[in-house]
Amino acid sequence: MIVKFLGVHNAESRYTRLVSFLIDDVLAVDTGSLASELSFSEQEKIKAILLSHGHYDHIRGVPAFAFNNACHTTRVFATQQTLNILASHLIDGVIYPKFTEKTPICEKQSLKLVALELFTPMDIEGYQVLALPVNHNNISSVGFEITSKEGKKIFYTGDTGPGLSALWKHVSPQLIIMDVTFPNRLENKAKNSAHLCPKMLKKELIEFHQVKGYFPQVILIHLTPKFKEEIKEEVNEVAKELKLSIDIACEGDELIV
Ligand SMILES: [Zn+2]
Ligand SMILES: [Zn+2]
Repeated sequence: MIVKFLGVHNAESRYTRLVSFLIDDVLAVDTGSLASELSFSEQEKIKAILLSHGHYDHIRGVPAFAFNNACHTTRVFATQQTLNILASHLIDGVIYPKFTEKTPICEKQSLKLVALELFTPMDIEGYQVLALPVNHNNISSVGFEITSKEGKKIFYTGDTGPGLSALWKHVSPQLIIMDVTFPNRLENKAKNSAHLCPKMLKKELIEFHQVKGYFPQVILIHLTPKFKEEIKEEVNEVAKELKLSIDIACEGDELIV
């Protein structure tokens, strides 16, 4: 399974992109930079989109993608609340066409919205996808375990605050892609906005080890660009203390699981 990171930050600029990554070039997970970081032909390869939650930085690429790929139907998987946010705020027929219906651009619907049930594995384009609830700002937010045909597993937390331990018995990933948005000195901010800092990450990983008996490979995304160096130093300390590999993703990074 090849994971390709398109955007790994929580703030957009010339040098930083919002969260989005691809699995084997065919599954897109969150869409913060889905259209802007791919060529048209790369976009055509995408067969399905998974959305972790309805915040703008994760759903914003959907209408641009639908516009570019209007004449074939792409399925979008998310919880019903996330789909409702997308349908009522972005593809609402006011600021952009309702891509879930026929549009003036094409006779076909560009998007088909499919609701995910929590704790219920679903086959999506040959991958088994399990959506699990995470704690994020009173919005319906999920993490995804994605399992390839070969049995390779990754778990993406989406945006999340602390309290992932209840999920660990449901997943067995080789790789975890995790939200670390703030440095330790802004722990309160992390808690209040339901994100993680390195100190909180350490606690979540120790609990993972207690439940599963191993550490997965860990890669971090959703960083606040101006705190990146500070977060990096603190994450290196956590990696040293726990004796495991923790990396911070960069835009354009690819890794094989
Ligand atoms: Zn969010
Ligand atoms: Zn976010």
